[in-house]
Amino acid sequence: MSRINRLLIANRGEIALRIIRTAKEMGIVTISIHSEVDKNAPHVYMADESYFVGDAPSSSSYLDMEKVLQVAKVSKADAVHPGYGFLSENSVFAKKVVDLGFVFVGPTAEAIEIMGNKLLAKKAVSAFDVPLVPGTNHPVKDIEEAKIEADRIGFPLMIKASAGGGGKGMRIANDDQELQEMFPRAVNEALKSFGNGDVFLEKYIMSPRHIEIQILSDGNGNFVHLYERDCSIQRRHQKVMEEAPSRLLTPEIREAMGKAAINAGKSCDYVGAGTVEFIFDTSGAFYFLEMNTRLQVEHPVTECVTGLDLVREQIRIANGEQLGYSQQDIRIRGHAIELRVYAEDCTNNFSPDTGILEIYKRPQGPGVRIDDGVEEGMNVSIHYDPMIAKLIIMGETREIAIQRMIRAIEDYVIVGVETTLGFGKFVLNHPSFLNGDFNTHFVENYFHPNEVNNQEYDQVAISLHDFKLNENNYSKDLKQPLSKWRSRFN
Ligand code: ADP
Ligand code: ADP
Ligand code: MG
Repeated sequence: MSRINRLLIANRGEIALRIIRTAKEMGIVTISIHSEVDKNAPHVYMADESYFVGDAPSSSSYLDMEKVLQVAKVSKADAVHPGYGFLSENSVFAKKVVDLGFVFVGPTAEAIEIMGNKLLAKKAVSAFDVPLVPGTNHPVKDIEEAKIEADRIGFPLMIKASAGGGGKGMRIANDDQELQEMFPRAVNEALKSFGNGDVFLEKYIMSPRHIEIQILSDGNGNFVHLYERDCSIQRRHQKVMEEAPSRLLTPEIREAMGKAAINAGKSCDYVGAGTVEFIFDTSGAFYFLEMNTRLQVEHPVTECVTGLDLVREQIRIANGEQLGYSQQDIRIRGHAIELRVYAEDCTNNFSPDTGILEIYKRPQGPGVRIDDGVEEGMNVSIHYDPMIAKLIIMGETREIAIQRMIRAIEDYVIVGVETTLGFGKFVLNHPSFLNGDFNTHFVENYFHPNEVNNQEYDQVAISLHDFKLNENNYSKDLKQPLSKWRSRFN
């Protein structure tokens, strides 16, 4: 196989930039795509070449397979990296890419198809010694069957869409009556949202942690895992803060989870970087949830603690190279935490916010990494994911990482949209987070929006805004107004 020389990055925002950077380091020509509203976005001018693919809605641009494939041809790309979201877990796309003679930076279309469907995934991994959440491992066709299965599994339980994702397509039923009400709704919703009405039942784990394992496979039979990420701080079943390593795992459980994750990878002949998600209960038992067949949003925390560049590994594997290291070579060093900085109002149920980034100032310093795809003056629109940036912090210990992240949040200035920065600071200061005693219900259990001092941020925003507007401030006394807004945090 000839090496990848020209890489099409079929994505936008921070993940497109993330991939462009590593590709450049590897001497690869980078090609990006953009929609109408993104024509001045950083992923356009950071790439060596960029091609217009359509109007703002994803369905007319980033999700339009034929247009993306057309760019691959016209630009003479030899490989396609899908990033995450958009077409990354679309097996039809992966197949078309390969059939047209391009390298797909990811697993085979077959592996994507199996793991993209929670029921097919359960079936595949069950033969490979991977523990499953008690439930039905086949679609439940009607309410009568659901009731019989519920009797066996016990309440509370979850009704899940087999094709669900992104925290969508899940409902909790506490008793027969709730099951009766929700079951038909879950089927309809699954059909409408995912084009597949298959639902199944799963025991609802009461106070769980979400712990996932990063794996790598080179397609030559070499599998390694890069240990875990704890992603239990969630809202709407979606992650907001992730860390590595988890405070919860003993070396024995870590090893068992790593082994189970590799087995899940083997069950679908996985090639490339993938993530096996587990739910971890209070007794220390863990169960397979699903496998994400792509680079994960929170992959940087693993990079921080292992020292590996996951995009480089993906490209090396796509080039046909062997891993060149084994499990014993992979060590964890230090602690890393990521906060997803979403344009969301955490005081209003984390509802998405839009607007112009009037001021955007990134924090700096040792152990501070920002992966973003925005710039001051840009519009955060309704068209795409509301994630503005990822604030990734590395420290020798968890305590240092926490202190450092609080400092970095205080140094981060975003004016124009509400963000999850204030929420992040709330989490980092919370005793349950500090002592590691929390689960996926952190937000419901502890988060009282009135305790986030958004006003503090608003005041900073206003004073910095006024400061910027008044040109004289720059020439007069730079220190005085700056120390004024800085002091509000102390
Ligand atoms: P991760 O496990 O990497 O954190 P997320 O669930 O946060 O994954 O999703 C990553 C990206 O993929 C997000 O941009 C999210 O919007 C998108 N995504 C995931 N699943 C779906 C889906 N079923 N439909 C649409 N977008 C999805
Ligand atoms: P998605 O494809 O939307 O990411 P997952 O199956 O990975 O779906 O679940 C997303 C989140 O929902 C988990 O991280 C967890 O918080 C919650 N969840 C899923 N299954 C269960 C379960 N059986 N019991 C309790 N919580 C669950
Ligand atoms: Mg998941």
